[in-house]
Amino acid sequence: MLDADFFRRWITATAASVDREAQRLTALDSAIGDADHGSNLQRGFAAVLATLEKEAPDTPGAVLSLAGRQLISTVGGASGPLYGTLLRRAGKVLGDAPEVTEAQLAEALRAGVDGVKALGGAAPGDKTMLDALIPAVDALGEGFDAARRAAESGAVETTPMQARKGRASYLGERSIGHQDPGATSSALLIAALATAAEG
Ligand code: ADP
Ligand code: MG
Ligand code: MG
Repeated sequence: MLDADFFRRWITATAASVDREAQRLTALDSAIGDADHGSNLQRGFAAVLATLEKEAPDTPGAVLSLAGRQLISTVGGASGPLYGTLLRRAGKVLGDAPEVTEAQLAEALRAGVDGVKALGGAAPGDKTMLDALIPAVDALGEGFDAARRAAESGAVETTPMQARKGRASYLGERSIGHQDPGATSSALLIAALATAAEG
């Protein structure tokens, strides 16, 4: 079973890898966007960690809802509301259960991904975070490691795609040949699940 501490470790591990990879995320965004994806997420996850410490939410759902709310209010870019929606929706599905199963987590993330689709209007193949998140959620039933591999492949597979949503879509064909920054950060988020599971 996964308790509030697991979810806290997940968010903390994500914040750490966002810090570690911030320059890379920003470099990817400088090729097809406005060079702020790394700093957007660093600012957002730093605020999330501060709030988690202050408010000490004690259920999985409360941890995710709080993290989502904080991302929405601190990240100005497109990724803030999208990641915020992912986590808030997932948190809502988990409700106030003190512990959840991996299957419940998968179901909650599926709902979160549906929220991202509804908010941003993107579909698979549009070269967005969904191209990492959807395969990850599909693979979650096989465990966190399988989800991590699926997200990483999904992110790499955005390189030959032409962006149809977000800033990168303004570039048209010139968006081809660059890995999507949001799909790359989504792979970090999913990889952090395996880290959290190590305890
Ligand atoms: P901004 O583009 O506003 O500067 P960021 O740089 O933080 O925001 O985030 C860019 C990432 O957000 C993109 O790489 C893409 O993965 C994701 N993104 C942008 N628009 C959408 C959308 N409509 N649906 C899903 N993801 C999107
Ligand atoms: Mg940007
Ligand atoms: Mg921006």
